[in-house]
Amino acid sequence: MLFPTHLVAAFVLGRRWDLSVPPLVAGAAFPDLVDKPAAMVGLVDLYQTAGHSVALLVVGFAVVFVRRALAPFWIGWASHLLLDAAHMILNGRPDDILFLAWPAVEHTPAVDLPPIEFFLQYLWTPSFYAEFVVWGLLAYVLVADRE
Ligand SMILES: [Zn+2]
Repeated sequence: MLFPTHLVAAFVLGRRWDLSVPPLVAGAAFPDLVDKPAAMVGLVDLYQTAGHSVALLVVGFAVVFVRRALAPFWIGWASHLLLDAAHMILNGRPDDILFLAWPAVEHTPAVDLPPIEFFLQYLWTPSFYAEFVVWGLLAYVLVADRE
């Protein structure tokens, strides 16, 4: 899923569930802000690693037990992983959700590209069209908030 759509999804979740929006959006941004630069500078070979790992998400969940204020951040982070997995399934690449198992499983996905190249191959795929649903929910929430 595209980075801005992750942020929009977190915003919508925050508005609908009455959660603090800034940490939710920060949590939704977190996986890509960690993993994409790490891959672009060559620290790791894949564009979805630590920030997209369920193992690290579970550690984050344990931290939420100690610091409840981090719960919205964690929910935003979890929403990012869920939407990325959904996008791979929608685009006919269900095996690629193994990215969630990093580092236990180092799966090389069918599509592993830097952000701009990813965007260009992603245009007009089924998941690309599904993103309009998220943006439509944003419009709904913004209109509902004005009433
Ligand atoms: Zn991602």
